[in-house]
Amino acid sequence: MKENYFVDERGFYGEFGGAYVPEILYKCVHDLQEAYLPIIESAQFKEAYHALLKDYVGRPSPLYFAKRMSEHYGCQLYLKREDLNHTGAHKINNTIGQILLAKQMGKTRIIAETGKMLGAEVHPVRTGNMTLSDACSEAIRDWCCHPADTFYIVGSTMGPHPYPDLVARMQSVISEEIKWQLEEKIGRDYPDYLIACIGGGSNAAGTIYHYVNDERVKIVLAEAGGHGWETNHTAATIHKGTTGILHGAKMLVMQNEDGQIEEAFTISAGLDYPGVGPMHCNMAKKGRTEVLSINDDEAIYGGYELTRMEGIIPAIESAHAIAALKKLNFKPTDVVVLTVSGRGDKDVETYLNNKLMAKEYGNF
Ligand SMILES: *Cc1c(COP(=O)(O)O)cnc(C)c1O
Repeated sequence: MKENYFVDERGFYGEFGGAYVPEILYKCVHDLQEAYLPIIESAQFKEAYHALLKDYVGRPSPLYFAKRMSEHYGCQLYLKREDLNHTGAHKINNTIGQILLAKQMGKTRIIAETGKMLGAEVHPVRTGNMTLSDACSEAIRDWCCHPADTFYIVGSTMGPHPYPDLVARMQSVISEEIKWQLEEKIGRDYPDYLIACIGGGSNAAGTIYHYVNDERVKIVLAEAGGHGWETNHTAATIHKGTTGILHGAKMLVMQNEDGQIEEAFTISAGLDYPGVGPMHCNMAKKGRTEVLSINDDEAIYGGYELTRMEGIIPAIESAHAIAALKKLNFKPTDVVVLTVSGRGDKDVETYLNNKLMAKEYGNF
C-alpha cells in the first residue's frame, strides 16, 4: 500500500499529531475539526482567499532562475520567492486564510503567538524563558479563558489537529504555483529536488504539498543546528528530539529525561522552537524527506552567498536552506526548487555582526 503522508481521519500522521488539549478547549477544537474543510473548500471562501492573495499579498510569487548559483552548484536552481510577499515572508498566506475562516465561524476575537503593530494588542510574554515556545503556551492559556469567541491563529504546521493540516493547506499555494511555473519555464511540472528550511514546518509543507506522493521529487529540509545538533545549543529537533507532546500534538520535541521541554537555540528567531510539526516528524521517520542540520555559521555564509551572487538578501531562516546546497551532489541537469521563505532586511544586523563567524567557508 502507498504511504499516506497526509493527515488521517483521526488527526494523525503515522504516530504523530492528534489533539491533546485541555478539557476546556475540547469543544472549540472539535468545532474547528468539523468546520474547516467544508469552509475552506467552498467556492465563496476560495474566491475571497485568492482575491486577497493576489491583490493584497502580491501572489503569485515569482519562480526565479538563479543563474550564477546554478553555475556554482552545478544544477538548475530556481528560487521560489516568498520573500517578495507583502510583509516579507510566507506566513501571510496562512494568516489571511485563518482570519477568513475565523470570520466564517463567527469568531470575533483573534489571538496569535506573535503580533505586530498593526492594531493588535501585544502582551509581552513574561513566563518561562520568554521564547516563541512560551508565547505559544501563553496564547493557549488565553484561548482557554475565552474559548467561545476566540480563534487562535496558529502560525505553523503545529498545534492540535486540525491545525497542522489547515496550515499546510493554506501554504500549499506555494507548490500549486511551483507546478505551473515549472511547466511554463521548463515544460515539466516537477523538479528533481525541493529544498526548504524547517522550523514548525509551514513553508516546507507548502513547498512540498503537491509533490509529497511524487517519488520522482527528492525533498531536502534544513533545520537549525545552532552550534551543532550534538551540542546543547541547537534547535535541530528532528535530529535530536524524542517523541513527546507539546502544544497539543504528539511530535518530536527536545526534552530532558523528565519530559521537561528544553530550550531551543539558534541564531534564527523563526526556527527557535523545540518541536516540529507532526507531518514532518512522520515524513522524516519514513525516509520521505532528508533532513539536514545547518549550523549558525553555515547559515550566515549561505545568506552572504545568495546576497553576493544573486542580489537577494534572504531571511536568516531561509539562509539555512541555501546552506543545504553545499551538502548535496547534483547532476548538471537536476532541476532544484528552493523556497526563500522570507527577506533578510530584519536580519542585516545579524549578518553584519556575525560576518566573521562564517569566515572559514570563504571570503565575502
Ligand atoms: C517563521 C519563519 C520560518 C519558520 O517557520 P516554518 O513554519 O517552519 O516555515 C521560516 N522562514 C521565515 C522567513 C519565517 O518567518
